[in-house]
Amino acid sequence: MKTYRIATIPGDGIGKEVVPAGKAVLEALARTNRSFAFEFENFDWGADYYRANGVMMPADGLDQIRDKDAILFGSAGDPDVPDHITLWGLRLKICQGFDQYANVRPTRILPGIDAPLKRCGPQDLNWVIVRENSEGEYAGVGGRVHQGHPIEAATDVSILTRAGVERIMRFAFRLAQSRPRKLLTVITKSNAQRHAMVMWDEIANQIAAEFPDVKWDKELVDAATARMVNRPATLDTIVATNLHADILSDLAAALAGSLGIAPTGNIDPEHRYPSMFEPIHGSAFDIMGKGLANPVGTFWSVVMLLEHLGEQAAAQQVMAAIERVTADPALHTGDLGGTATTAQVTDAVCALIEKVAVVA
Ligand code: ATP
Repeated sequence: MKTYRIATIPGDGIGKEVVPAGKAVLEALARTNRSFAFEFENFDWGADYYRANGVMMPADGLDQIRDKDAILFGSAGDPDVPDHITLWGLRLKICQGFDQYANVRPTRILPGIDAPLKRCGPQDLNWVIVRENSEGEYAGVGGRVHQGHPIEAATDVSILTRAGVERIMRFAFRLAQSRPRKLLTVITKSNAQRHAMVMWDEIANQIAAEFPDVKWDKELVDAATARMVNRPATLDTIVATNLHADILSDLAAALAGSLGIAPTGNIDPEHRYPSMFEPIHGSAFDIMGKGLANPVGTFWSVVMLLEHLGEQAAAQQVMAAIERVTADPALHTGDLGGTATTAQVTDAVCALIEKVAVVA
């Protein structure tokens, strides 16, 4: 029997509620399955750790989780700690330290979910956004001079490298190729940004030649927002730079019905390091500690984690349970207009997983 070693990092806010819920789903799955098991180790890193130790995670933090098979992450963010500290001190440290250069964000309107687009049925919105996760606008290159003086200046320099763009384009074309429609939209802004984005377009052209069976087109990021709203069915797989995809994927999550449902994977496609899976929502301090957080985004992240481990049948088993639960309005949390609690949704998903016949 294979035992997968999973690091759980709940982080802050509702991360502390949804990550244990995700772990419960994996445990339920393991109980129905004879071919694999999980060994969990929890890490209490985040804003509380920062208050006690002055850092979001210990200096040797990456070494403590380097040999895990995957990481299940909650969120990082705290009203009393500046956002750039919570973000750069934990999540980005792991993403960059483990070169998780492909951030993958599937979006679908799940059964029973009331999505805001009037003319859009569930079949019209089935996207996966690939976000370049290692450089671009979030490369961290820049600085400030003359601080506090009237001539103060600050820069954030966006860096795109040929190697970085080639690998994310190749990943996106390959993902598009694996989906039924074999359709990729490359998001750009090369009309206004005359250097890096022009290279981005050139490399897209070059990599496209390796995938003759993938249909692809180019869209300016501003036009892409309108297309997502007005013609969602014309999109399938989407690839964009770090900042562009960050914005487009929040729009995608809202169009699919709720921030509480959307998952993401920070993936090292070469499997050199553990990849990290997390709901896209933040720490949501307004509902923290009340048992109201929607755990579905974390459960869908668990599905992505299982897919990454190569456990496709188990991933489908969890996804089927999620879809049965979202289809039932009595199991909707507050963000979906319902009154269900985190525990009720978690119990329902676990019960459905355990009801399904043993997989192997
Ligand atoms: P951060 O600063 O960490 O990004 P935030 O609170 O500013 O966090 P989010 O947590 O992403 O932003 O979400 C904004 C709002 O959406 C929350 O305040 C909360 O009301 C709602 N929300 C987000 N995620 C969930 C969830 N899983 N379940 C229920 N409501 C949610």
